[in-house]
Amino acid sequence: MSRDPDCLFCKIIAGEIPSFKVYEDDDAFAFMDINPIAPGHTLVIPKNHHENLLEIAPEDLAAVQRASQKVAGMIMAALKPAGIAVLQLNGRGANQVVMHYHVHLVPRNRPDDGVTCLEWELEPGDMAEIAKVAAKIAAAG
Ligand SMILES: [Zn+2]
Repeated sequence: MSRDPDCLFCKIIAGEIPSFKVYEDDDAFAFMDINPIAPGHTLVIPKNHHENLLEIAPEDLAAVQRASQKVAGMIMAALKPAGIAVLQLNGRGANQVVMHYHVHLVPRNRPDDGVTCLEWELEPGDMAEIAKVAAKIAAAG
């Protein structure tokens, strides 16, 4: 396993910092977020240290997705929420706080579960502007 000695999540995987672990396999680890935005808010991380989506090795990304599917099923069975939101933030500009790739699994019971950060009104955008940005992104591929 590759690790960053200064990384909080690497220390949690190694057991140097305690966590509320709910799942572990050879490549992934899942534990409770101790700053939950909803009951059952869980984090799924690769055991290898990678900072974000842009840097993670594809095989570790796949391992986290496999574990996320497994843990989401465990959350559904245990807590029976109406749904589960999957969130993943990249970079401080996106409000990523711990620089070790992680997927948030957030059980939802909308509309009254208090998770207001995931609620937004559907408001059609400027189609010309959307087309322009799409062309710019597509050209970067
Ligand atoms: Zn780490």
